[in-house]
Amino acid sequence: MKSAKELQKELTFSVDHISRTNPEMWAKSQEFCEAYKDFLSVCKTERETVSHIIEMAKANGYTEYNPEKVYTAGDKVYLNNRNRALILSTIGQQAVDNGTHIVASHIDVPRLDLKPNPLYEASEISYLKTHYYGGVKRYQWAVTPLALHGVIYKEDGSFVEINVGEDENDPVFCISDLLPHLGKDQRERKMGDVLKGEEMNVIVGSLPFIDENGEDVKDAVKLATLVYLNEKYGITEKDFLRAEVEVVPAGKARDVGFDRSMVGGYGHDDRVCAYTSLMAELETKNPTKTTVTIFADKEEIGSTGATGLQADYLKNFITNLAMMQGVNYLTALQNSKCLSADVGAAYDPTFADAYEPLNSCYLNKGAVLTKYTGSGGKSGTNDCGAEFMAEMIALFDSKGVCWQSQELGKIDQGGGGTVARFVAECDITTVDIGVAVVSMHAPFEIVSKLDVYATYEAFAAFINR
Ligand code: MN
Ligand code: MN
Repeated sequence: MKSAKELQKELTFSVDHISRTNPEMWAKSQEFCEAYKDFLSVCKTERETVSHIIEMAKANGYTEYNPEKVYTAGDKVYLNNRNRALILSTIGQQAVDNGTHIVASHIDVPRLDLKPNPLYEASEISYLKTHYYGGVKRYQWAVTPLALHGVIYKEDGSFVEINVGEDENDPVFCISDLLPHLGKDQRERKMGDVLKGEEMNVIVGSLPFIDENGEDVKDAVKLATLVYLNEKYGITEKDFLRAEVEVVPAGKARDVGFDRSMVGGYGHDDRVCAYTSLMAELETKNPTKTTVTIFADKEEIGSTGATGLQADYLKNFITNLAMMQGVNYLTALQNSKCLSADVGAAYDPTFADAYEPLNSCYLNKGAVLTKYTGSGGKSGTNDCGAEFMAEMIALFDSKGVCWQSQELGKIDQGGGGTVARFVAECDITTVDIGVAVVSMHAPFEIVSKLDVYATYEAFAAFINR
C-alpha cells in the first residue's frame, strides 16, 4: 500500500519555483538578461525593433528574402514588412508541405502617438497633442519623463529619425497632472477618465521666439519650437502630417529587487517574447522543419492593417516558399504549427481579487502555456486543442523546459486576445505561450529573469525539434 505522501506526489500537479527545481538556471538567466536589457533599452518602437533585429540577423548570416530566388536547407532570410513587422526564417531540411515551425510575437507596445497635427501653444507653453495607442491606463503616463521616437518625412522625400530623451544629456518631455490641493473635481472622475484622451498633451517648450526688431508675433513659444525643429531636423509644421512619432517612457531597463531577480522596463509586452524567440531563431542551424519567426505589429489594437497578423503576409511567405519548392502550399499551412508568443498576467497578490489562483501564472515558475484567451465565455479566442497541448507538454517535459499554465484572470473580470486566433485562422495549429508580466501595459513592467530564460528554452526546443 502506498503512503498518502507517495500518492499525493504521484497524482497531484503543482509547479515549484525554478530556483528549487533548476538551480543551475539562475546564472544563465542573469547573463541572458544583460543582453535582453540592452535590447529593451534601444528598441522602443516597432520601427526601431525591426531595424535592430535586421542588423542582428545580418550579423548572423541572414539575407533579405527574394521570392524569385531558390533557397536550400540551412539558408537564413529576413522579410521586412513595411519597416514595422518582420519575418526571420531558416530553411529546413524537409520541404514546407511537411509543415513549418512558427513563433509569432508582436513588437508594438501601448504608447502615445503624436496626432497628425500636434503642435500648439497655450499660456505661453508649447505642447504636442497625442492619441493613445492600445490598452493604456492614461494616468500612468503623466508626471513621468517621456521620450520622443520616430520618423518624419519631408517635402523632398527624405526623412529624419527622431530619438530624444534617452541619452542622459537629452532633455525629456512630460504630461502634467493637477495638484491634489485643487483636485476636488478630478477626484470625482472615474478611473478611466482621471486623465482624458484630450488631456494627454506633452510639454515641449516655454520660451518665446524673440524677434530681432522687437516685432510682436502671435504664438511666439510655438514658433520657437518650430524654429528649433527646423534648425535641428530641417522640418516644418506640415511635415508632422507625414510622420510617425511615438511618445514613450524615457530611460533604460533596470534590475528590480535587492536580489536583482527581475527586470523592469518599458515594453516587455511583447518584446520579451520577441527577444527570446529571436535568440532561438538566430542560433538555429539546419533545422528539420523551416522556422518562421514573426515579429508582428498592431497586436495591441487588434492585429489590423498591412503589418498586423490579420493581414496575409505570413500566409504569403509560406506560400512563396511552397511554390519555390514545388509543393502544395495549403498542405504547408495545414501541417504548420505555431507558438503564439505573448505575455501572461502574473498573479499579483496585491490585487488578488482579479485572479483565480489555481489557474494563474506566477513569477519564477517558467514559460506560461495558455490554452485559451478571450472574454465573456472565451469569445474571440483560439482555444488550442488537447492534441497540441499534449504535444507541447510532452516536448517541454522531455527537454526539461520549465513551464506553467494560466488563464487570463478570473472569469468575467476582463480578458484579452493575442495573435493566436489570426494565425490559427490560416489553418495552422496554434497555442499561446509567453512570459508572466507584472503591471502589464504600464510604463514600467516587471518580468522574472528565470522566466525569460525558460521561455527562450521553450522556443529553442520547439523550433529545433
Ligand atoms: Mn502582448
Ligand atoms: Mn498587450
